[in-house]
Amino acid sequence: MRNSATGAVNSSDFRLEFQCPQCGAPVTIVENDRLFACPFCKVKHIIHSTSHWCFYLPAAQGVHSQIYYVPYWRFKGIEYRRRNNEVTGTIIDRSAIAFDVDEFPPFLGFKAQIHRAKLRMATPDVNGYFLPFTLHRDEFMSRMERGIAGSRKLGAVLNQGNDGVPAMKDLLFTLQNSEYQSDRYIAQASRNAMQRSAMQQKKQGELKDYIGEVLSIIYYPYYFDGYHVYDGISQQQISMAQFPDKVSQKLLRAPRWTPCFLPTLCPNCGWDLTGQADSFAYQCKHCCTLWSAGSGELKQLSCAILQTAHTAGIYLPYWCFRFRIAGQNIESYADLIRNAYLAKVPTPEMEKLPCCIFVPAFKIAPRPFLKYAFLMSSRPVELPAPSSTVPEHTFALTLPMNEGRAAVPLVAAQLFRRNKDIAPAITKESVEVFDARLVLIPFVCGGYEYTQPELNFAVIKNTVQWGKML
Ligand SMILES: [Zn+2]
Ligand SMILES: [Zn+2]
Repeated sequence: MRNSATGAVNSSDFRLEFQCPQCGAPVTIVENDRLFACPFCKVKHIIHSTSHWCFYLPAAQGVHSQIYYVPYWRFKGIEYRRRNNEVTGTIIDRSAIAFDVDEFPPFLGFKAQIHRAKLRMATPDVNGYFLPFTLHRDEFMSRMERGIAGSRKLGAVLNQGNDGVPAMKDLLFTLQNSEYQSDRYIAQASRNAMQRSAMQQKKQGELKDYIGEVLSIIYYPYYFDGYHVYDGISQQQISMAQFPDKVSQKLLRAPRWTPCFLPTLCPNCGWDLTGQADSFAYQCKHCCTLWSAGSGELKQLSCAILQTAHTAGIYLPYWCFRFRIAGQNIESYADLIRNAYLAKVPTPEMEKLPCCIFVPAFKIAPRPFLKYAFLMSSRPVELPAPSSTVPEHTFALTLPMNEGRAAVPLVAAQLFRRNKDIAPAITKESVEVFDARLVLIPFVCGGYEYTQPELNFAVIKNTVQWGKML
């Protein structure tokens, strides 16, 4: 069992195959793993990328034509949105072609055949014709948010109606779950989507964001037999597509992405760092320090550690954010009690305590994620000074700070949902985050749950499973 947003390795996870930087042996990991141990030389490394990841899928064996690799953006993670004043999360896996051309399928297919193929790293030494990506990352994320993702042709069809855009999500699901679609099918599906959306035109303050597990470019192989385009994995002809005129030799170039491999040695004492396969921070159990590979080198993390009068069996990591909601005067924890209608009486100490939002720094399923964020954020917490040493039983850190920050408006919407003046005013734009810290919270281990005696709340063990420790 892995501790991922989806709760387990599932069929939509790709496998990534590459060579061990130490001995050259082939290594296979799950696509979002960052820490691995080579099965041959046993040496551990952290894989790091300063930009989004770039992979390609090799063509099936037996394809001898020239392969053209077409880039697709792919996002896998959780879409959180507010609906009827409640924030909920859904696991999604979406893609969109990142090159402006109509002849190739607008999305990556989700056929088992594709998922049996292993991803490889699209580094400059890979031979092949790679098309550049013309759709910027932010544009892909924004299209996903607006419910539009796909090629320009698809976007154009859907923009014909006034209300076509919000209903695109339904269409996207239809398209992603089917085989490559014909233009006629797309036009029909878009008409249906527009009709449905016209019926659900009650708009409310839109609040939606994505907490990601994977954001990558995947180059998909296609080839050409002189007349038509073929899928390089299934070797099937793609509808009636002709080879696109836009793909000229001038455009084609080697990929430019290069990941870096960091040895898992503690920069402080040289001891071996440990972590979960999908951790973003790694612990030295010798000098009790915590290191993140965020910028291509290992940087030490400090964290505020809450104290307990009981025996802490585990420390759960949280991100603690200070925030401001535009036009609202919520500064202290007492302000939070009054405005979120918490069943508590403000004390003079609470007037001085800053109002913070706490977000789990570990990936779990959407419902417990929101619940544990809410439980912690609605408690009065006085943060101690940051410490550079961490307790041994610190839970794996798998949700980086920028992902946690994206959750702040969503948790705020959940906290203030009963306040009819503040709740609708909470949007991604109106919530400003101005301070972030890592906090470790001690829990006592029970049979089925971890309990926090001082703050009086519990976390169900099953919801925060440990993954594979390396
Ligand atoms: Zn090796
Ligand atoms: Zn150390």
